[in-house]
Amino acid sequence: MNAPAYFDYAATTPVDPRVAAAMSECLTREGSFGNPSSLHYYGRSARERVEQGRAEVAALTRGRSTDLTFTSGATESNNLAVLGTARAAGKRGRHVITSRIEHKSVLDACRQLEQEGFAVSYLKPERDGLIAAATLEAALRPDTVLVSLMHANNEIGVLQDIPSIAARCHARGVPLHVDAAQSVGKVEVDVGALGADLLSFTAHKLYGPKGIGALYLTPQQRVSLQPLLFGGGQERGLRPGTLPVHQIVGFGAACALMRIELPTEAPRIERLRLRLWRGLSSLEDVILNGHPSERVPGILSVSVAGIEGESLLAGLQEVAISTASACSSGSGEASHVLAALGHDAELTQSTLRFSLGRFSTEPEVDAAIAAVRREVERLRAVAP
Ligand SMILES: *Cc1c(COP(=O)(O)O)cnc(C)c1O
Repeated sequence: MNAPAYFDYAATTPVDPRVAAAMSECLTREGSFGNPSSLHYYGRSARERVEQGRAEVAALTRGRSTDLTFTSGATESNNLAVLGTARAAGKRGRHVITSRIEHKSVLDACRQLEQEGFAVSYLKPERDGLIAAATLEAALRPDTVLVSLMHANNEIGVLQDIPSIAARCHARGVPLHVDAAQSVGKVEVDVGALGADLLSFTAHKLYGPKGIGALYLTPQQRVSLQPLLFGGGQERGLRPGTLPVHQIVGFGAACALMRIELPTEAPRIERLRLRLWRGLSSLEDVILNGHPSERVPGILSVSVAGIEGESLLAGLQEVAISTASACSSGSGEASHVLAALGHDAELTQSTLRFSLGRFSTEPEVDAAIAAVRREVERLRAVAP
């Protein structure tokens, strides 16, 4: 059997060959293999590569490279932002706000804060996945020390109105952390314009390597952040450990490429998603999950009423898709995101997430539509 068409770009993306080439220049004796903290020639050469990478990552998000800290990925960035900000502010207040549709790396960090005596409000989105301004306003308290809300959701692709959320937080003097792992490289992201005080993202969702991410921090947040790791002065003490030069170079190269590609790539992917939705929605009882237009171009989540997602997936060997997110499908847990939208267990079970990206093509989309149609018709024919 041929390798299936890839429809899971929201789980991870392949590394662009140009990115891989830049990374391999930082591994061997001939390349920039040095420790960027060393003061000799090899160290300085590696340090230059790191700072060039940092500048490229900052340029994609129109931020200042001095506000950027490298981490091992968005999971670590989210943990550092949520735990680090709340713990540092624990004497002033012990209340944190997040939502029910966040990534596990935010939700589980919030659970940890509850263990440490913090109160956490988990905002319920509207049925379209958007967090209503009134819901946020009602949750803000005098002792709130952090709001953490994602930009784009990884299961349904809905984009929150971050500038308006930021304005509401700032009016109450509360910092805002944004998990932008699914929006950086998918839509134009300008950290300043978003108004986030902290912003997390990761290389492997934008054709860079796994295991490298970033956290933006305004200078004000930086001074009041408690690190998670101790042991060296790297990243100004916020994230000690020898800097992974090849990973940072790969992240930078992926961001530099994305700056060039995004203006044409995003509308192309959007057209493919609309084509996919047109095809799937011609089937009976297919529901689009999430707001119809406030969304990233590449993610399409659909529920097929009356059909179990697992049986549907089993019949769809020619397309690599997920039922919900990569994380929840691995664990067999029902999606907390779909549950938060008000889906019952049955509808949640019948959900498929298609995600499209740089290497997706029209013939792949058409083949996926035909395959889903075939399987849905087959399963409906045998259903009692
Ligand atoms: C992928 C993802 C993460 C985790 O990023 P890693 O770099 O894999 O740790 C966090 N949040 C969202 C929304 C994601 O999609």
